[in-house]
Amino acid sequence: MDMGIRGRRALVCASSKGLGRGCAEALAAEGVDLVLNARGAEALEATAEAIRAAHGVSVTSVAADITTPDGRAQVLEAAASPDILVTNAGGPPPGMWSDWDRDDFIAALDANMLTPIALMKACLPAMMERGWGRVVNITSQSVKAPIPVLGLSNAARTGLTGYVAGTSRQVAQNGVTINNLLPGIHATDRADALDRGVVEAEGLTMEEARARRESTIPARRYGTPEEFGAACVFLCSVHAGFMVGQNVLLDGGATNATI
Ligand code: NAP
Repeated sequence: MDMGIRGRRALVCASSKGLGRGCAEALAAEGVDLVLNARGAEALEATAEAIRAAHGVSVTSVAADITTPDGRAQVLEAAASPDILVTNAGGPPPGMWSDWDRDDFIAALDANMLTPIALMKACLPAMMERGWGRVVNITSQSVKAPIPVLGLSNAARTGLTGYVAGTSRQVAQNGVTINNLLPGIHATDRADALDRGVVEAEGLTMEEARARRESTIPARRYGTPEEFGAACVFLCSVHAGFMVGQNVLLDGGATNATI
């Protein structure tokens, strides 16, 4: 199926690795020019070069922390009113409800709620003026079903979800869609870090920790960045213009719910 987005320009945040990279690769495969971002310049430029070589699209890399005003300004200057915006950043650390104070919540809200909101606020006006735009926010399955040790993530991402629910309905008449992609467990560095936490806390091997988590997923495996990227491309395609304000769960069936 032709996604109808060849020649469009996308800003994909936090995309040197993992799910962001999966989205960037999949968009590049459809002929979309990219601005990529991450903090670490070396891995970011390696990813940019790999994507240029594989897909022949234009790829600009901006090494910056997307959760800071200065980082966002650098990224937005390079992206210059993109047609497609994929928001993403690292997730907050796990812990117990009793661990977190105000500063921890402010940091989580900044990274996983206020940063995507600031990016949308910057990019939506030009999309609306052109009469076409796509925004995909990478959030988490924790929006549908809380993950108790990720209380900071549960809180921040639910706030973003509420904002998107309303805002997506205000911009849809201008040909702009905003939707959220909710990853369940995917095989990335983030999943490894969470598994390592279990290894340290419970004295398991990495293989045991992973097998235990896989056994909780009806698909009995972790998702892949490639599968995640394919779903992102569909939401960014011309075919998804009637999908507005949705929360699309990619979790191998892990969230046990009828709808
Ligand atoms: P990952 O494999 O650790 O990759 C994170 C990417 O984001 C890297 O490229 C990293 O590069 C970049 N990054 C992190 N913080 C950044 C910042 N402040 N500014 C710019 N770039 C930043 O993570 P992932 O698994 O792809 O996860 C992506 C998001 O999905 C996270 O918010 C995570 O919590 C959420 N999520 C993941 C899963 C999962 O199973 N993987 C499940 C649910 C939700 P640098 O470190 O060089 O900046």
